[in-house]
Amino acid sequence: MSRVIFHEENGVDRPVPTLAPGQAVQDAYGRPLRDLRISVTDRCNFRCRYCMPREVYGADHVFLPRSALLTFEEITRVARIALTLGVRKIRLTGGEPLMRKQLDVLVGMLAELRTPDGAAPELTLTTNGALLARQAAALARAGLNRVTVSLDAMDDAVFQRMSDGGVPVADILAAMDAAVQAGLQPVKVNMVVRRGMNDDQILPMARHFRHSDKVLRFIEYMDVGHSNGWRMDEVVTGAEIIRLISAEFPLVPVQAQYRGEVASRWCYADGAGEIGLITSVSQPFCGDCTRLRLSPEGKLFTCLFADHGHDLRELIRTGADDAVLAAHLSGVWLTRKDRYSEQRGQAHRDNKIEMSYIGG
Ligand code: SAM
Ligand code: SF4
Ligand code: SF4
Repeated sequence: MSRVIFHEENGVDRPVPTLAPGQAVQDAYGRPLRDLRISVTDRCNFRCRYCMPREVYGADHVFLPRSALLTFEEITRVARIALTLGVRKIRLTGGEPLMRKQLDVLVGMLAELRTPDGAAPELTLTTNGALLARQAAALARAGLNRVTVSLDAMDDAVFQRMSDGGVPVADILAAMDAAVQAGLQPVKVNMVVRRGMNDDQILPMARHFRHSDKVLRFIEYMDVGHSNGWRMDEVVTGAEIIRLISAEFPLVPVQAQYRGEVASRWCYADGAGEIGLITSVSQPFCGDCTRLRLSPEGKLFTCLFADHGHDLRELIRTGADDAVLAAHLSGVWLTRKDRYSEQRGQAHRDNKIEMSYIGG
């Protein structure tokens, strides 16, 4: 006999909808749950000024203790349940995800999961690249499909100013090549653009990655968390970036491939490949946001700019069965009303989570 599961909404228990294979739970605005981003650590070997400035994340900063982190088994269990609710893509992030020991073991466990219609979920990773060269082959063997590598400049001095990580650009480029060699393709490259800091690197980056097997994506600098002292005048908009690049290399827009695609895509008119733009500030895409985030300590966040999460770890560690976890997870999604980027300016928040805790 099938069991009816309830989730709580405004103090009232409501039944969780039964989903056919391929269906997804939908939030209050009809957005399906499709992506799960899993942050596996709040630690990082870089101190990017826009994410973990050293003044805030210094030697005395207290990171989560190991016992607070979800184990690989716990993460895999949450992911397995999320797949039954509609998730099709899983992205590992952090902090720096490659600092979590034996990440390839987690990748192997996630790679064995299947959606209700028997498909393997797409499995990707976002990394700063510093530890990627030595791990790429093992990650690919374990079942990782693709990687996104962050790189904010071609020039070493500018890169150090942005990343404060002491790793030369050449090492990150070599790591990208190692990923390609391992079959983690296509490699995407994320460049956060901050006016006055690295906007002079837009063209050098575009020139470098044209005609390559990597896809460069420009990300508008966002007001995630509170530690970066974000100011609107430091945002270089996607439109500005397109104008700048097209003056040297004409660009043509490419149609979106699927609902929830984060980047708007442009290709070079001369056939030298494509670029992406993630315009979360100037052209928010909340209407298509299908992403649920799991923090290193097992809290669910329904928005990058959320000020509170929904704890799963307590439920997991006190013996909740899969049906209860599924009810909790779908309850969180069904009642979701986030659209922070569309309300920016009107929606002041005091306790936004930090990017290094929840990942991009
Ligand atoms: N450490 C990994 C990395 O840097 O790729 C993964 C986590 S990092 C938080 C994920 C992505 O978020 C990176 O591409 C990073 O550049 C981007 N990011 C961090 N802070 C940001 C901000 N304030 N605005 C826009 N993007 C940001
Ligand atoms: Fe670390 Fe990534 Fe944040 Fe840079 S953006 S400090 S690499 S977590
Ligand atoms: Fe999604 Fe929140 Fe970003 Fe909007 S602001 S796109 S709801 S994560």
